[in-house]
This record gives sequence, C-alpha cells and structure tokens, in this order.
Amino acid sequence: MRELEEKILQDGKVFPGNILKVDSFLNHQIDIEMLDKMADEFYRLYKDEKITRILTIEASGIAVAVPIAQRFHVSVVFAKKAKSKNIGDGVYTSHVHSYTYNKDFTVTVSKDYLNEDDHILIVDDFLANGLAADGLIDIANQSGAKVVGFGVCVEKLFQGGGEKLRKQGYRVESLAKIKSFDNNKVNFE
Ligand code: 5GP
Repeated sequence: MRELEEKILQDGKVFPGNILKVDSFLNHQIDIEMLDKMADEFYRLYKDEKITRILTIEASGIAVAVPIAQRFHVSVVFAKKAKSKNIGDGVYTSHVHSYTYNKDFTVTVSKDYLNEDDHILIVDDFLANGLAADGLIDIANQSGAKVVGFGVCVEKLFQGGGEKLRKQGYRVESLAKIKSFDNNKVNFE
C-alpha cells in the first residue's frame, strides 16, 4: 500500500537488531486516518470471506484490529500477555518468544470468546519471525476455529515468518513488505 510505504519512508526509523520504529503513527501516537485506510484495504482483500472474529495480540495489534472489525461488523479478541503463572482452565494458552524484546511470554484467550464456529482473521502490526503468529494459530487450533488468513501492516520479508506461514498454506496479506534495511534505509519489495 503506497501511502503506508510513503509514511514509513517519511517517519520510520531503523534501529539496531532490524527494528523499525513507527511510533509517530502506529505504535505510540496513532494516526487514525492511516489506520482507516489500512482497514479499508484489509476489508477489500478479505470481504468475500466469512469472518466472525478478528484475533490479535496486545498491545499494538489492538489499534490495528478495531477499525478492521468495524468493517466486518464483528468483535475483536486480543490475546492477553499473562502477568501471573496462575492461569485458570477457562483459557486457551500458548507461549511466544519475542526476538524484538528478547522475552518469552504466555498468551491467553478466554474460552468464552473463541470457538469452533469461528472463522478468524489474525491481524498484527508487524510480521517478523512469525512467532506471535504461531502462538495465535495455536490458540485458534485449540478452540477449533478456522484461520481464514493474516493481515499485517508491515512484513519484514527477510525474517521469514511470512514465508513459513504461506508454506503452511495460510493466506498472508501484508500492506508493506520490507526486503531489507541498508544503512538505515528501508527497501520495499
Ligand atoms: P514475530 O513474532 O513475527 O517475530 O514479531 C511480531 C511481533 O513483534 C509484532 O507483534 C510486533 O509487535 C513486534 N515486532 C517485530 N518486529 C518489529 C519491528 O521491526 N518494529 C516494531 N515496532 N515491532 C516489531
């Protein structure tokens, strides 16, 4: 999506460890108009599918998910990063490693909010190694829900998460695909 690429070129900052910071419009300050345009694009891509829930992971996925859910007239469910080890049996649980933050965390979704009748679109701000995506697929599988596909704002192609998901047969739609960072410059596919 051209406008997103232009915004990344204008405002994105590349940090060590192949991290792209987009705090000025996506991850800290939120540009609602940009989110609306991205949601329109995800709706255009997936409108012929039956979608009953948008699934994402807190925190930054939530802002992306809400305007998409509005277009499909469905609810957002976000996986929570568990703060205590004392997790009841009313939740689906998975484990996610974040290379970005060099941390492992447990994610949970209440069994009340996902079930085998659901057709879910998984959305997130970034797709890198695909480990957050793996955790969300794991949760969807535990619930019996069908994963219709993925919608991600920024895919870092060189980290391989998208390729792995596509090889597994998942539909993955990314609005900006980054091929490389050279000398702190972003190169799109
Ligand atoms: P993955 O699990 O695919 O390796 O990483 C995806 C998650 O890590 C996303 O939920 C996102 O929040 C975070 N992430 C990965 N790469 C970046 C990046 O370059 N910039 C930002 N801001 N977040 C990232």
